[in-house]
Amino acid sequence: MAVANYIPETLDEALLLRKAEGAIPLAGGTDIMVQNKRGIGLDPILDRPVMIIAGLKELKGITLHEDGSVEIGALTTAGEIASSLVVPWHVRMAASGMGAVALRNSATIGGNIGNASPKGDLPQPLILLDAEVVLISFGGERRMLLDDFIKGSKKTDLRSDELIKSVIIPPHDFTYSYYRKIGMRKANAISKLSLSAAAVVKDGLVVDFRASSGAAGPKVIRSREAESMIIRRSIEDIPEIVPDFLDAWDRAISPHAMPKYRRNTTARMLTRFLEAIVNEEDHGIIE
Ligand SMILES: Cc1cc2nc3c(=O)[nH]c(=O)nc-3n(C[C@H](O)[C@H](O)[C@H](O)COP(=O)(O)OP(=O)(O)OC[C@H]3O[C@@H](n4cnc5c(N)ncnc54)[C@H](O)[C@@H]3O)c2cc1C
Repeated sequence: MAVANYIPETLDEALLLRKAEGAIPLAGGTDIMVQNKRGIGLDPILDRPVMIIAGLKELKGITLHEDGSVEIGALTTAGEIASSLVVPWHVRMAASGMGAVALRNSATIGGNIGNASPKGDLPQPLILLDAEVVLISFGGERRMLLDDFIKGSKKTDLRSDELIKSVIIPPHDFTYSYYRKIGMRKANAISKLSLSAAAVVKDGLVVDFRASSGAAGPKVIRSREAESMIIRRSIEDIPEIVPDFLDAWDRAISPHAMPKYRRNTTARMLTRFLEAIVNEEDHGIIE
């Protein structure tokens, strides 16, 4: 079946095509065109009609809401996210490390989530920040944690009549933030491993602590068990907690997907972040 059977001009038109034919949304096309390729000059083979949604203005743009949350439309590109002044730092870092400039100008946040690759760069910081995804159909909208929406490698909770409308990131004010993507090269490389971490420390007490890891299992990993070991503890207690904390993290990592170096590198990154908290390093971004 040829690419681009439809080019809806409005969101309603697109939702009708979803409902009537389960049409496959093509946003930037940087995943669809590559995954289904047949050869030079040939359209990819897809089992349902395709609709190009790239022109739908209802799904574009970044909004800072009054409550401090940030809403990113599904068709917002990685380039737009990377250069935004309101998008939280972890997400900007991930967007700015995606592929090369040309790719960042086409690749959308909706496509990155819809593709649900464990190596996708944006779900990892978004899940760290407890972001929610907004899904839209003729039946209305529903909203759920992105962590629940992505079920596993290439699996999401998207219904056949729905589109991803936007992502909403609640406000945060972290004392310390960390982001690292490890790939074959510094730029233009799919992630081999990535880690985000963030903490709020007040009067020597860790009030909030979280970490998320990408490309370390079938979906982004967060270990609530490990996080709870650090939250509400004094920074002086952290050194003695670190071994149990790292053990808990290790248990959360998929036993099948992880060669040993990935486990060791994750442990080193987490240790570096915890050391910065213990040493009360005075800059918010930890490198
Ligand atoms: C050379 C190259 C380098 C790459 N490097 C990286 C990288 O460094 N990091 C990274 O994370 N990814 C990378 N990718 C993968 C890809 O670019 C990203 O996943 C990108 O964000 C996909 O967005 P898109 O708009 O192109 O998605 P598309 O290809 O248009 O769609 C991807 C999937 O999402 C679905 N979809 C799209 N929009 C919606 C919507 N609004 N609602 C419901 N479903 C939707 C589509 O139906 C499809 O299943 C790379 C790809 C290439 C070809």
